Amino acid sequence: MIRVIVLITCLVSPFLQAFCQQTSVEYAESILAEDLRRHLTYIASDELEGRDTGSEGQRKAADYIANHFKSLGLTAIVPQKDGSKGYLQKFNLYKNGWQDAYIKIGDGKRLHFKEFFPNGLVNIPAETTSDLLFIENPSDIGANISGKGVLLFESDDKETTKKNAEAAFEAGATTVFSISNADENKFKTLAAERQSVLSRYNRMRLEATENPLQPSKNPSFIVSTSLAADMLGVSERKLMKAKDGKKNLKSSTVTLKSERGDELVETMNVMGFMEGTDKKDEVVVITAHYDHVGIDKNGEIYNGADDDGSGTCGILELAEAFAKAKAAGNGPRRSILFMTVTGEEKGLLGSRYFTDVDPIIPLKQIVCDLNIDMIGRVDKEHADNDQYVYVIGSDKLSSELHAISEKANSDYINFDLDYTFNDPDDPNRFYYRSDHYNFAKNKIPVIFYFTGVHEDYHRPGDDVEKILFPKYQQIVRLVFHTAWDLSNRNDRIVVDSNKK
Ligand SMILES: [Zn+2]
Repeated sequence: MIRVIVLITCLVSPFLQAFCQQTSVEYAESILAEDLRRHLTYIASDELEGRDTGSEGQRKAADYIANHFKSLGLTAIVPQKDGSKGYLQKFNLYKNGWQDAYIKIGDGKRLHFKEFFPNGLVNIPAETTSDLLFIENPSDIGANISGKGVLLFESDDKETTKKNAEAAFEAGATTVFSISNADENKFKTLAAERQSVLSRYNRMRLEATENPLQPSKNPSFIVSTSLAADMLGVSERKLMKAKDGKKNLKSSTVTLKSERGDELVETMNVMGFMEGTDKKDEVVVITAHYDHVGIDKNGEIYNGADDDGSGTCGILELAEAFAKAKAAGNGPRRSILFMTVTGEEKGLLGSRYFTDVDPIIPLKQIVCDLNIDMIGRVDKEHADNDQYVYVIGSDKLSSELHAISEKANSDYINFDLDYTFNDPDDPNRFYYRSDHYNFAKNKIPVIFYFTGVHEDYHRPGDDVEKILFPKYQQIVRLVFHTAWDLSNRNDRIVVDSNKK
């Protein structure tokens, strides 16, 4: 009852409008630096191992966020397999990479990226056996190699090695194995380096059919000396003698598989829903991505405190502030969806799954998306004044949204709203680079809040100790006041422009 009175009176009386503003300040003030710090200390902790998409650490983060939403009394709206509703929107991504890859010697399998590695994206999906011809001298490459695998020594320079392999393929070789010049230890390093380079192609995709990678036309590999000797069934010493042209070695056969395929990666968006009062079918969405890039090959954890632990924990505090308002009878008129999305670092996949595959809420009911991605640090341009935030996208689809954002700032926060990156000619193209874009492309107005890149961007040093909590708190409050206006105003904001 009180809620209804407040709602109606706020609309008609300037005095009571002031009261309503007072109310929003009260809840905004529950967004506290110390609470943000408490949440972020966990979200950006080593225990979560950099929250890589599909990892155990990311699942822990999802559980933490879902439990927080539950404790605030937010509604679970995602249909689950057992017919119930939950906070997690689970789905599978496809991750391309090598599945099963080996060279068989006798009954044993010699391992990929340990004793041999491919030059490029070699795909030999089924185990094949072919003749293997050892060629001591590249000048011996001729018609006799047609239809066979060829084993030859790596040359001292890469170009020559490449040319020799090309010549072998031209003469009809099916596969080329180059025997590495490196000793055992160096070979391990080279193999690990190659694995890390090629893993860049192990992209995650939303659909199996999306951006299929073309495998290398000519399958070629680098093999260690010891494996090469085993392939020929001779000792390493004998093989090295052959390098000096002293010993004729017999041919052999090679059995090999180098299968590329998709691995399913289960991941999830996390959603907490707060139903509105008299305009509950219109929904304000607030997003941040809770995934980050995980651990690198040296075991270093990328904690992603700023990227995007800051946005994630901002959502936790925003949800709490609105939950307090609702508990006091001042819940929003429109509904609010608090959503932390996955797979942002893999190409905005979680938000795209929501908008393109399974929106849960019909897109036409979504009023706008306020997206937060990195708001806890300062960039070089603002080294001597941290009271700023880059605002991107606010005027692109709705002039009203832009005006509401500016007013929320001038009424309550007074930060410098920096529009540098809103310029369509800005080479960074940030408008396209975080989750709001999946809403914007559907003509849903968006604001992207961001404080810029810094020396720890996508590096292991993006830690909670470097977060500037006082200014971070103010930006979350700015999002709160903006969301408050958007969810409580009489009329839904209109889409009235279409700027680049
Ligand atoms: Zn990010």
